Amino acid sequence: MDKDPQQELREIVGQVRAHLALQQELGLEHTDLRWPESAAPSAAARPTLEQVRAELGECTRCKLHRHRKQIVFGVGNPNAGLVFVGEAPGADEDAQGEPFVGRAGQLLTKIIEAMGMRREDVYICNIIKCRPPNNRTPESDEIVACQPFLLEQLRAIGPRFICALGGPAAQTLLQTKEPISRLRGRFHDYHGIPLLPTFHPAFLLRNPNEKKTVWEDMKLLLRHMQQS
Ligand code: URA
Repeated sequence: MDKDPQQELREIVGQVRAHLALQQELGLEHTDLRWPESAAPSAAARPTLEQVRAELGECTRCKLHRHRKQIVFGVGNPNAGLVFVGEAPGADEDAQGEPFVGRAGQLLTKIIEAMGMRREDVYICNIIKCRPPNNRTPESDEIVACQPFLLEQLRAIGPRFICALGGPAAQTLLQTKEPISRLRGRFHDYHGIPLLPTFHPAFLLRNPNEKKTVWEDMKLLLRHMQQS
């Protein structure tokens, strides 16, 4: 059967983006993978989350679609003042279609509640929407294919603050290779939105001594949220 031309176009765009990502990784040239400002919708033309989800469709733009059970788009308040961005769905999230519902997710929920909020008050998503096989780290072509949808999701919500959970989320949003140990604990600028990176809850499950570090980061976030 002939390929759907839109599908074919999406695959080509995915391949070009993956190629650019690889070039950048190899240091061959500077390629800015962020959504170009000029192409970004103005505040007035901000998409809704439903529109972004509809545009994502039953995505086959990268190889992760082959093994996923379902797309894990995001959950929470569409007008949230705070968005948590994690890495990728795991087995529980793939089964339930909701981010951060497994052990790491339960810890994130506790952190949110310790901050005086409920899960429903914030928005929670990941840099990629499909589970990587065996929960491996997302690969650059997968991140690049999914990135426009993350950016549009954040534009749709227009949060006052973003908290990036772990290295891949912080590095993707800030377009840097700096390790999370150096990025965490201070605010960075994400298109005018203060972004605070901190350790991923899954890392805390393996390194419970770092829970106090994350709590320091969350207190810093709360202080800024209360001031602004
Ligand atoms: N880890 C993540 O980064 N995201 C999830 O949704 C679950 C675990």
